[in-house]
Amino acid sequence: MPESKPTQKCKQCGTCCRKSSPSFHKEDKPLIDKGIIPSKHLFTIRKGEPAYDNVKDGENVKGMLVPVTTDIIKIKGKGTSWTCFFLDEKDNSCSIYQNRPVECRVLKCWNTREIEQIYAKNRLSREDLLSQVNGLWSLVTEHQDKCSYEKLKRLADTAQKDINGVAGKSILEMIRYDVHLRKIVVEKGGLDSGMIEFLFGRPLPKTIHGFGLGVANNLTSLHLLDAQQQLF
Ligand code: SF4
Repeated sequence: MPESKPTQKCKQCGTCCRKSSPSFHKEDKPLIDKGIIPSKHLFTIRKGEPAYDNVKDGENVKGMLVPVTTDIIKIKGKGTSWTCFFLDEKDNSCSIYQNRPVECRVLKCWNTREIEQIYAKNRLSREDLLSQVNGLWSLVTEHQDKCSYEKLKRLADTAQKDINGVAGKSILEMIRYDVHLRKIVVEKGGLDSGMIEFLFGRPLPKTIHGFGLGVANNLTSLHLLDAQQQLF
């Protein structure tokens, strides 16, 4: 029996849009600047945050949990799923098709060469989008400084050996600051709560899992996680 030829065009099955959403590149900036893709539908994976590498990036192996090297700004999923917010699930169509980001335009599930070539290049950062916004940008940089993942990694490596020691206490302070800032800018600053994960990345009580640690709901103690709990 002759071998069937590999698919050479998109069948609009929606699988790519259900597995993950695109990361933004500098060419996509006008889509956000003009409000075609509102920032409340975005989230940021901050530099140093462990994240799954879905496309081979340099020496990294596809599917590995690795610290990201720059801000990665992505479209949020629907609810807790990875399905892109803009996928219309009734007919697997893209509700922003004419204005879809560059990764969506080059992605071909039958040949990933083109997306692999652009994947790690020219990533759009929060600085590209916010550095001219007085007040907001200083809040973002202050948070970035106090809650940097480089600092968190160093502290977490020490806290792994002595969970109740100085490093563990510093992590708890960092987490409390992260939680408090997110709350205050919405309640007192009047910011749209949908913007928070774009401005400050994913919440530390969640991403701390990538460092093998968990935090109690009342933010008063840390605990070690087993390998299964570290998956997030
Ligand atoms: S923006 Fe459109 S094409 Fe891109 S992942 Fe979302 S639904 Fe799919």
